[in-house]
Amino acid sequence: MKVKCDICGKEIDLSVEICNYNLNTDKSMHVHCQLEESVKKMLNQAASTELERANSLYPQFHSAHEAESVLREELEECADELESIQETLKYLWENIRSNDTGQQQSALNQLKRCAENIAIEVNQFRAMCEKAQAFYDKEGVE
Ligand SMILES: [Zn+2]
Repeated sequence: MKVKCDICGKEIDLSVEICNYNLNTDKSMHVHCQLEESVKKMLNQAASTELERANSLYPQFHSAHEAESVLREELEECADELESIQETLKYLWENIRSNDTGQQQSALNQLKRCAENIAIEVNQFRAMCEKAQAFYDKEGVE
């Protein structure tokens, strides 16, 4: 039996794929589509919260140049966090080779913190994109 996913619009072949059926809305969806939707909702919420925080501290952008510099700085911070992840992953690998399970665990804990940090930085980047959009909207730029 086949039904249509209410999120991506593609077919769900119920004989091979897992499908969520929402009794309240009478909708069917791929499990991965529904998970993605709920993650997107959380990310949208996080970006709005970050934008509100930034707007309470700093004025709106005055120019496209200013918006671009802020975005570039935010991207650099994302890149720094990515570099930490790469270094820590290398450290994990070194300790796998030397069979030091204690240090492997410590590297893994560090990687989890790094993942959280990069998510925060990416969220700030996203929020600054929204802020740049607000600048263009105000300017009446198409
Ligand atoms: Zn789907």
